[in-house]
Amino acid sequence: MPEKTLPFDREFIENLTQKYPTPFYIYDEKTLRRCARLFNESFAWNAGFQEFFAVKANPNPEILKILKSEKLGGDCSSLPELLLCERVGLRGELTMFTSNNTPPLEFFKAKELGAIINLDDVTHLPFLEKCAGVPDLISFRWNPGALREVESVIGNPVDAKYGLTTEQIFEAFALAQKKGAKRFGLHTMIASNMLKEDFFEFTAKTIFDLALEIERRFGIKIEFVNLGGGFGVAYRPEELPLNLREVGERIRGVYDKMIAPTDLAPLKIFTESGRFIAAEAGTLITRVIHEKKIYKHYFGVDACMANLMRPGMYGAYHHITALGKSETPNLPKEKVDVVGSLCENCDKFAVDRELPKLEIGDLLAIHDAGAHGYAMGFQYNGKLRCAELLLQEDRSVRMIRRAENVDDYFATLNF
Ligand SMILES: *Cc1c(COP(=O)(O)O)cnc(C)c1O
Repeated sequence: MPEKTLPFDREFIENLTQKYPTPFYIYDEKTLRRCARLFNESFAWNAGFQEFFAVKANPNPEILKILKSEKLGGDCSSLPELLLCERVGLRGELTMFTSNNTPPLEFFKAKELGAIINLDDVTHLPFLEKCAGVPDLISFRWNPGALREVESVIGNPVDAKYGLTTEQIFEAFALAQKKGAKRFGLHTMIASNMLKEDFFEFTAKTIFDLALEIERRFGIKIEFVNLGGGFGVAYRPEELPLNLREVGERIRGVYDKMIAPTDLAPLKIFTESGRFIAAEAGTLITRVIHEKKIYKHYFGVDACMANLMRPGMYGAYHHITALGKSETPNLPKEKVDVVGSLCENCDKFAVDRELPKLEIGDLLAIHDAGAHGYAMGFQYNGKLRCAELLLQEDRSVRMIRRAENVDDYFATLNF
């Protein structure tokens, strides 16, 4: 199996640890820009195309600034995420507000910032009207319900809490028109970490159909369709990466057939990818601090599930490179568990993973952690969040978030 590549070697990271103690995240600016550009290139055929980076995947302002310079917008679902976008100069229609179960203040701020508001229920329109007024531009999130093509791959949208049913979508657009909205968008997100190109073609087809039906029924010209996120990442070395150019071409084919000949054209395509943009650029670096042999063979590292929750929470696979060892073929290997220090037995980065023989002091690189990695961090068990570093295009390294200390942990308390 080919080893996954990294933009640095053991020596480079070992040197860094003199200044920045492990664990830490390191993001590769080059990879981040490459993934962002790939999005824009794959949809360049669509004049109004816009990718809104899902801020929840990596809410670091320096990351957002880089993505902004690549012409990405921001997709938010909370007040702090909206404020983060505002702080880096993303506002107005470069921010999408795709929230659910939203408090009044958040709608108020989204409207004030001129974000595109994407409503999650038919009742949210009068709610929004009451707390902020109905904006000119309004979008609704569609939950297509039982779809045979979808259920087999990602579970049944019927079980998802998001979006409006098809009947409610019609009701919502009629109501929005009555309440004075002038511009309209339509959103759906039925994929999650999807690696199949044809799935996105299917999503586009279904949402184009609905947009055409809305026009037939109400004479409403949908201005954009937002295909959401869910663009997958090949976390395992044996997985085939999603071919985003092919996704773009397939959606173009559907667009040319269904939309181009109608007066819905030009229809803008929007996306809200988080994972595809940021996952590959981020690596969690941690050091082996203990070796323990009981019924199984464990290596304990100085990071834990509080730094990267995905393996513990979903059993997600993250590839691990033992720096200075995995790159050398034919070193003796052994099957081990790589574990953190939480008093929770799910705190394992890898279970029964074949790795080159490890020793205390080894540095491990946990791959593809740039999306939903640091962002899902927490302080349970008195674990503090680690630093985030940026490997810039000129190969210099800059700290873009310091590690938390005990004062941060106590900051909300009065003794
Ligand atoms: C999480 C989320 C995204 C991003 O999903 P990825 O898997 O990171 O692409 C986009 N839109 C909404 C509404 C989300 O909740």
